[in-house]
Amino acid sequence: MKILVTGGAGFIGSAVLRLAVARGYEVVNLDVLSYAACLENVASIAANPLYSFEQADICDAAALARIFAQHQPDAVMHLAAESHVDRSIDGPADFIQTNVTGSFTLLEAARSYWEGRGRFDAFRFHHISTDEVFGSLNADDPAFTETTPYAPNSPYSASKAASDHLVRAWGETYGLPVVLSNCSNNYGPFHFPEKLIPVVILNALAGQPIPVYGAGENIRDWLFVEDHAEALLLVLEKGAIGQSYNIGGENEAHNIDLVRKICTILDDLKPDAAPHDRLISFVSDRPGHDLRYAIDASRIKDELGWQPRVHLDEGLRRTVEWYLANEPWWRALQTRAGVGERLGRG
Ligand code: NAD
Repeated sequence: MKILVTGGAGFIGSAVLRLAVARGYEVVNLDVLSYAACLENVASIAANPLYSFEQADICDAAALARIFAQHQPDAVMHLAAESHVDRSIDGPADFIQTNVTGSFTLLEAARSYWEGRGRFDAFRFHHISTDEVFGSLNADDPAFTETTPYAPNSPYSASKAASDHLVRAWGETYGLPVVLSNCSNNYGPFHFPEKLIPVVILNALAGQPIPVYGAGENIRDWLFVEDHAEALLLVLEKGAIGQSYNIGGENEAHNIDLVRKICTILDDLKPDAAPHDRLISFVSDRPGHDLRYAIDASRIKDELGWQPRVHLDEGLRRTVEWYLANEPWWRALQTRAGVGERLGRG
C-alpha cells in the first residue's frame, strides 16, 4: 500500500511515517513546511526507498493534482493543519485557510483522482481530527463518544469541526471512502516546543518560570504519540467506511498535576539545587479555555482491538529522557517566530 500523508513533517504525521515505513508501507510525505514543521522528525527514514517528500500546500489544487497523478496513492492520511489553539486566537485566518479551505481542496483532489481511477474500492481518505470538536466537559460528565454533538469553542477546534463535516459530506454525497478519527492530546518525542509538555520541560531545564494557565485545573486526556500512530494505521487498514473512531490514552490529568509529574521526573533525571516545581507560575487563563476533555474509546477497542499501551507516567519519563538527549533538535526550533512567547491572550 502507498499512503499519501499530509503534514508528515509535524509531530504526529512524522510518527505515523516512521511507523508506516517500519511496517513496509510506501509513503509520500506532503508538507508545506510551515513554522511547525521539522524535517529532522523524519531524518531516520529520509533515505529509505519507501519514503518520498513533496513540499506543497494543501490549498494548492494544481500541486495536489500533480502529486496524486504522479504518486498514485492507495490511501490518504490527512494530518496537515494549523494545530496550536493559542495561535488560532491571535490569527484565526490561517486556521480557516489550511484546516477548512485546505481540507476542502484536498478532498476535491482526492475525489478527482479516485473517480479518474474508476472509484476503486480499496481507496481510503483518513481524516485525523481532535476531541476538541466536542467542546468542554464538566468534571463528572461522561466522556466523549463518537455521537457526542459537536460544540467547538476555539477558532482551532471550530476549523477542525468544519473539516470533519466536509469529510463526512464527501463520503455521503460523493461516495468517497472516508474514515475519521478524533484523538485526545498527544505527547512524546518530537513534540513542537510551543506545546504544554515541551514548554514545561524546557522552561524547567532553563530555570525559567513554568507558565500554568488559570489555576491549572483544566483536565486533558494524554495519548502517547506512538500509541496514536498505531491506532491510526489500524483505523486506516480496518476502519469501517464512513465511521469515526475516538482515540484516547485513558490518562486524564489536571494540568497542574501533569506539570508536577514532569518536575518530579526532572528532579530525578536532572536534579537542580531546589525542586523544579518552585518554578511553577500561574498566569492569566486562555479565553474560552475548555475545562475538560475525556475520550470514550470503546468503539476502536471493541471493533478494531486497539488499546493504548503507554501509561502517562512511563510516557512522560520517556519524553523527558528524549528531550534531554536531543537538545540540538529543540534549540533550533526555539528560534522560530512566536516560540517561547505568551500567545493567545485574546
Ligand atoms: P503539527 O503542527 O505538529 O504539524 C502540522 C504539520 O502540517 C506541519 O508539518 C505543517 O508544516 C503542516 N502544514 C500546515 N499547514 C499546511 C498546509 N497548508 N499544507 C501542507 N502542510 C501543512 O501538528 P500535529 O500536532 O502533528 O497534529 C497533526 C494533526 O492531528 C492535526 O490535524 C491536528 O489537528 C490533529 N490533532 C493533534 C493533536 C495533538 O495533541 N497534537 C490532538 C488531536 C488532533
